[in-house]
This record gives sequence, structure tokens and C-alpha cells, in this order.
Amino acid sequence: MRANYRMQRLFVTDTLSAGAALEASRDHFHYLTNVLRMGDGDAVLLFNGRDGEWRAELSFPTRKRLLLTPDEQIRPQPQPGDLHYLFAPLKTGRLDYMVQKAVEMGAGRLQPVMTRHVQGKIASLDRLRANAIEAAEQCGILSVPDVAPPRRLEDLLADWPQERRILFCDEDHQSQNPLPALSAITERRLALLVGPEGGFSEAERTLLRSLDFVTPIPLGPRILRADTAAVAALAVIQATIGDWR
Ligand code: SAM
Repeated sequence: MRANYRMQRLFVTDTLSAGAALEASRDHFHYLTNVLRMGDGDAVLLFNGRDGEWRAELSFPTRKRLLLTPDEQIRPQPQPGDLHYLFAPLKTGRLDYMVQKAVEMGAGRLQPVMTRHVQGKIASLDRLRANAIEAAEQCGILSVPDVAPPRRLEDLLADWPQERRILFCDEDHQSQNPLPALSAITERRLALLVGPEGGFSEAERTLLRSLDFVTPIPLGPRILRADTAAVAALAVIQATIGDWR
């Protein structure tokens, strides 16, 4: 069921059930009353990643308090997306963009990976999570992806669950077309790995290419920026072996 884009959608951490009013957070109070100028009896959509999506009505017991009362479940909670997105951190603005786009494109788990030529860093997992929540609110996703702490590439590969295939965007691939490699994939559990702006080192590329559970894929004849590569790879994966089919 597609999301209703005419109503404001907000992520909350509280349990959602019919008639159980929740106190709006300070941020939600400010956004709904001062920015959107909503008032008594107006309605929003709420989700928490567990209880589906609910229509909730606004009411003001006092001038400084806002209650949100769920009255109808609009969509049940779906299964979360199962595509893991492994990425080398970028500088802040591009990292925010990349995380938002990855969530929009259906990533179910975000895993920062530290590689040799990484230039950015993960200053705050909360910021990654805030970007993931914002993207989920905007595009109607009801499960906010998990955000995992950064790991070194070698460590991640050393204890990787081998039934989940890693699709590794290899800027040094000898072909240009990702479709032959993608159409040969039989696993349902997948992860996508995109490198840093500085690319993968030769040692990292050699290691990745040597592993049975890794498939290198090209993304055309041009070198893409890492955030562009993320969107391009997620689009081609979702369209061929993912949830766009
Ligand atoms: N510095 C590298 C170079 O000049 O070759 C480019 C790195 S690129 C900006 C960042 C990441 O995006 C790469 O590590 C790779 O994962 C992905 N990427 C970009 N273009 C790609 C392509 N044409 N094929 C496969 N992966 C690509």
C-alpha cells in the first residue's frame, strides 16, 4: 500500500494504539504549531517502526502542551527492508545526502566501513539516524533502518555471514554493465558496498575479489562520486533483483 503524501508523517518512539494519547516532543511541538501552524483537531500520521502507521489528532490541554491521539491504523507494519548498505564515510554534507538517498532507495541497515582511503568520518551515529528518520518520514517508509557503528573493512569481512552476498562497486572492473553479474545472483540476502571518494586500495580490491561471498559490479563507463554511485547501484539492484520487480 502506497503512503499518503498529503498528510504530515512523523516518527515517534512511543507505542501506538487507538486512543492512547502521546505527548509531542519539543521538536514536534515547534514544528507542528510554529512551522506548519496546525491546531486543535488537525491530523498527522505517526509511525514508530513497530506498530504500523496511525492517523493521530492534535489537541492542546494547555498552550504549551500538545497531545497526539492515534485514532485509526492506516497501514500495518511491513517487514523491514533486508538490503544492507555498507559505505565508506564521506564529508558531512555528502554523507547526509547519501544516507537519506540510501534509505529512500530501500536500504534496511546502514553500516559505515572504514577503508584505507577514507576521508570523511562518522562524527555522530545520532546524526546518521536523524537523517534516516527524516528520509523515512518523507518517503513513507515505516521501518527506520538500523544504524551500525563503523567497522574496519577487514574486520567486517572476517566475520561476515556468508549467506549474505556483498555486491561490491568496483571502479576498476573490466566491464561497464552490472546486469550480467546481477542476473547471476541467487542469494536473497544482499549487501551493497560503495567505497570512499579516494576509492579502494589495491590490497582491499584484491581481498574483496578473492572472497566467494563477494561479487564485484561495475557502474558504467564513468567514475561516479560515491553518493552518485550509491543511488545508481541501489537503483539497478532494486530494479533487477530487489523490491522494484
Ligand atoms: N578515486 C577513485 C578513482 O579515481 O578511481 C574513484 C572512487 S569513486 C569516487 C567512489 C566509489 O564509488 C568507488 O570506490 C566505487 O565503490 C564507486 N564507483 C564509482 N564509480 C564507479 C564505477 N564506474 N563502477 C563501479 N563503482 C564505482
